[in-house]
Amino acid sequence: MQDSHDVAVIGGGPAGYVAAIRAAQQGARVLLVEKEKLGGTCVNWGCVPTKVFLADVKPFYEIGRSSLVADGQIPMPSFEKMLNRKRMVVERMNKGIETLLRSNDIDLIYGKASLLDSQTVSVLTGAGEETHKASHIIIATGSQTAKLPNLGMDGESVLSSDDILSLDRVPEEMVIVGGGVIGVEFATIFNTLGTQVIILEVLPTVLPAEDDEVTLLLSALLQKQGITVRTKTEVLEVTGGDGRLSVTVRSESGELDTIATERVLVAVGRTPYTRGLGTDHVGLTMDGPFIKVNSRMATSVDGIYAVGDVVGKTMLAHAASAEGIVAVDNILGHPRAIDYRRIPSCVYCFPEVASIGLNEKEARDGGLDIHIGRFPFQCSAKAVAMREPEGFVKLIADKHTGRLLGAHIIGENATELIGECTLAMHLGATVSDLAEVVKGHPSLSETVTEAALEWSAKSIHLPRRGSPS
Ligand code: FAD
Ligand code: NAD
Repeated sequence: MQDSHDVAVIGGGPAGYVAAIRAAQQGARVLLVEKEKLGGTCVNWGCVPTKVFLADVKPFYEIGRSSLVADGQIPMPSFEKMLNRKRMVVERMNKGIETLLRSNDIDLIYGKASLLDSQTVSVLTGAGEETHKASHIIIATGSQTAKLPNLGMDGESVLSSDDILSLDRVPEEMVIVGGGVIGVEFATIFNTLGTQVIILEVLPTVLPAEDDEVTLLLSALLQKQGITVRTKTEVLEVTGGDGRLSVTVRSESGELDTIATERVLVAVGRTPYTRGLGTDHVGLTMDGPFIKVNSRMATSVDGIYAVGDVVGKTMLAHAASAEGIVAVDNILGHPRAIDYRRIPSCVYCFPEVASIGLNEKEARDGGLDIHIGRFPFQCSAKAVAMREPEGFVKLIADKHTGRLLGAHIIGENATELIGECTLAMHLGATVSDLAEVVKGHPSLSETVTEAALEWSAKSIHLPRRGSPS
């Protein structure tokens, strides 16, 4: 038995390492156990590698759209160099997190942890098994790729989002099963690299959680870029191998069809990772496959908290970190609850999509009396100068008080612009507050101000509501 800690964190992803640092900052003695690589899915197989790829292909996408390029002179990125740069960035992040943990005097053990009781963790390391006592335990074990039966995911031809990060060459054709966030981001990457991409989505739209107006425009823009989007199409089976695959699909009317392709990417969600953790052993209440927690991230067992993808509320890195901080605050005597309405969603396709709070359907279904302000990117000088006139800002606010309830942006830099709306929601601001803010000109951030002005029919750069165009 080793020395006792105040907090033991299991998992070094964005939920776990952030919780560990926050606890150490407040004077707690902290142990962090990681079975594989620091940074978890986010740094090693998720946010970071995909954003490196997207950043690498973006200039080539822009050159392809430029009217200044002579026909046939569009260069292609080197996939080999992209893979190398991804490796370097990931390694840099791994090391950076280890430096942060060490600088906060956090005891770090590489090994697989399991729960022996509510205050004891067993860790299996290369050197054998050790046990550690802690007054509180935070489970932050994350998630793994969800698999569907009959898709034959072999890691070579039928790939997960982990497998695709180490492809040796760019395929000529790819079917993507699932038009969620992973599907849309990888479609953007491989379409820019010259792959013929087909997205198959069982629901009526890609990115089904986003506002309907946003997904309608996104579908049209993806198709304009050459990506085939087939919605209301369920993938049933993949057969064949060695680069010649046959994908069987069923349309809404029940009709069966097959699509031939070279590679398949399966992107149908993620499942929580609790294998070998001992959740039954300590009697944790589950919520389906996820660990059940309350709004303070406490599990059903006193002293044990759970955060991040393993609780399955909002499977995003920044949400995982926010949950980690809430758990620590509660452990260290500063009770507070997580507020998911203040957590934005950012999708890094071309153009980007970002949102926070309620979408229009959620607001109306909830019986709220709302009013909407919109501003199109085509009326923004900066967006037009950047050759990015496609997109809009949509602000949803209470009709009577003007309090901002939701913001939805599709367009260049949407993932940065949403920060302004996130701050506004955090401060409980109204659309009038947003409308008063003076922005630099020309800047994309003017679109948020204009949407706020349009909410009360005062947009300067749109024809007057109701006037003949
Ligand atoms: P994880 O990051 O999965 O970390 C869990 C860690 O726990 C892992 O390191 C694992 O090895 C370790 N572990 C598990 N069990 C044990 C054990 N028994 N003992 C010790 N260690 C253990 N989110 C965004 O917000 N933005 C994005 O752009 C984004 N892009 C993504 C792209 C892809 C392709 C994918 C797959 C995901 C993406 N996500 C993104 C989601 C994001 O990666 C996750 O929401 C986030 O990583 C969850 O953090 P976590 O700490 O809960 O879990
Ligand atoms: P997802 O849940 O976002 O999308 C999966 C999609 O697959 C759904 O739209 C679903 O309807 C569809 N689907 C399921 N079965 C199907 C079938 N048989 N045929 C056709 N379509 C089918 O999941 P994901 O895209 O795999 O992403 C997993 C998680 O990773 C998400 O929680 C997401 O938030 C996170 N992530 C976030 C980012 C980001 O924040 N930028 C990027 C990538 C991933």
